[in-house]
Amino acid sequence: MKIIDGKKIAEEYLDQYKKEIAELKNNGIALGLGIILVGQNPSSVIYVQNKIRLCEEMGINAYLKELSEDISDEELIKHIEEYNNDSKITGILIQSPLPAKFDEGKIMNLIDSNKDVDGFGLHNMGALSLNQERIMAATPLGIIKLLEHENIEVAGKNVVIVGRSKIVGRPLALALLNRDATVTICHKKTKNLASITNKADILIVAIGQPKFIKANYVKDDAIVIDVGITRCDGHLYGDVDFEAVKEKVAYITPVPGGVGPMTKAMIIHNLIKLSKDGR
Ligand code: NDP
Repeated sequence: MKIIDGKKIAEEYLDQYKKEIAELKNNGIALGLGIILVGQNPSSVIYVQNKIRLCEEMGINAYLKELSEDISDEELIKHIEEYNNDSKITGILIQSPLPAKFDEGKIMNLIDSNKDVDGFGLHNMGALSLNQERIMAATPLGIIKLLEHENIEVAGKNVVIVGRSKIVGRPLALALLNRDATVTICHKKTKNLASITNKADILIVAIGQPKFIKANYVKDDAIVIDVGITRCDGHLYGDVDFEAVKEKVAYITPVPGGVGPMTKAMIIHNLIKLSKDGR
């Protein structure tokens, strides 16, 4: 069994990205990330602070609009337009989740697709679904890069993804299909889940249910990618019961230190990509 060290792999990518950013700067191209935070959801505040810190470390200018959750749709749209029209801003990120009164999908679609760092907008998601990948959401991209880094071939493999969210399961399924995997997507209404996950050469779990996946869900020598992160009693737990499955599998990602650091690194990847070919 090999534990895939996502933290170390992410650092390797970030080192490479730091050099690319410096090179872009030498050519007169400065990267600017415009972040919009609506309300003060405590987790969102921390995520935003972390993203700003990462930008500082990478030599990227970060701009933050902290907006009240009472803001109207029209005002929020005005702020998005300001970033869309600001040449200093090369990428825009609206911290999710937005307060419930907003139609998040509709709001995300207002980001200029050439500045859509998260790749959640219709244009980038549509391009992914047509196998014309532009900007892929950071978590699916991070998982693809992890598999590539470990020389794990996906073409022809049975890949089972548990979870179909727009930020993980759906875009990841498309990305793997684009790479010739045979993909099955499972969700809450899936019947006999274990009988499906048991056929997976590569099992990817993104459900937000700590230690849900036990040994009987996993085939011998499978590759297991655990996306889940649940904080409980000061600890972080994945969706996979790591101790229960680790002896059975060929590869597994830990939580923390697996997919999470890769997600962070891929935001930088996307910012660089947008500044190179997104316009
Ligand atoms: P969502 O809540 O948006 O989606 C969860 C998905 O899991 C849904 O499709 C849901 O099905 C499915 N699901 C939930 N419970 C079950 C179950 N018992 N059996 C089968 N399917 C189930 O979550 P996210 O995709 O946003 O996040 C999932 C997890 O990944 C969370 O722990 C989150 O913190 C973590 N995460 C980690 C990231 C990282 O970088 N490591 C990045 C993003 C998320 P249905 O559609 O039927 O409701």
